[in-house]
Amino acid sequence: MRKPIIVGNWKMNKTCAEAKDFISQVDPYINGIDSCTYGVGAPFTALSTCTENAHNLVIAAENCHFEDNGAFTGEVSIPMLKELNVTHCIIGHSERRTYYAESDESVNKKIKKLLDADITPIVCIGETEAQYDKGETLDVLKKQLHGGFEGLCEKCVSKIVIAYEPIWAIGTGKSANMEIAENCCKAIREEIRSMLGDVAADAVRIQYGGSVKPENIKDYMAQPDIDGALIGGASLKVDSFKAIIDATK
Ligand code: 13P
Repeated sequence: MRKPIIVGNWKMNKTCAEAKDFISQVDPYINGIDSCTYGVGAPFTALSTCTENAHNLVIAAENCHFEDNGAFTGEVSIPMLKELNVTHCIIGHSERRTYYAESDESVNKKIKKLLDADITPIVCIGETEAQYDKGETLDVLKKQLHGGFEGLCEKCVSKIVIAYEPIWAIGTGKSANMEIAENCCKAIREEIRSMLGDVAADAVRIQYGGSVKPENIKDYMAQPDIDGALIGGASLKVDSFKAIIDATK
């Protein structure tokens, strides 16, 4: 049985004070819920505030560097995240691929170092609107999976969370319909099966992301190959995140 995982991705939002206020309201709200893991991805500056105040929510960084230290101005390493008790890290988000040259190769290096540090990688993959229109979605997903997971063992991949986020659905209000979302998540799982075998394919959790909101999350979660969601806009407000929890607990 895969335990679903729902994570808010705050992106470049929330000061420490705002993060603390959110955590103080949402963290007690999930106290005692065992059926699903809930968490938030916070900017680096708010991570220690989040981990210090969260007892139930898991806290994710939104990126990391694959080197432990060195001359990488502005970057944050995995030991730095570990020191703050961060347990999850989003990597390969399409915004980082588009604006900051994140590649399957750097994603691969980050996954390996995160797993070594016992931090759960949440690995984002997904196609652009042009690729979708040309029918290239599955080829794009396969390429991202093969590049990102190069050299990983079956047991390692079992611990990873994959977020399928079609880029055309991110922040657009144009969420993928249930059939597209399920078909893509299923195709991802079957590709993992062919790459690494049944143990990894049956254990890996696959989230859908892209304009998820309280009104549609239940339908996504009802799909057999969708094990949760990565949520941007609808994770920023306490009421909306609580409504997501109400719909899924
Ligand atoms: P939205 O939920 O705002 O579409 O963002 C999705 C996303 O990018 C989560 O990582």
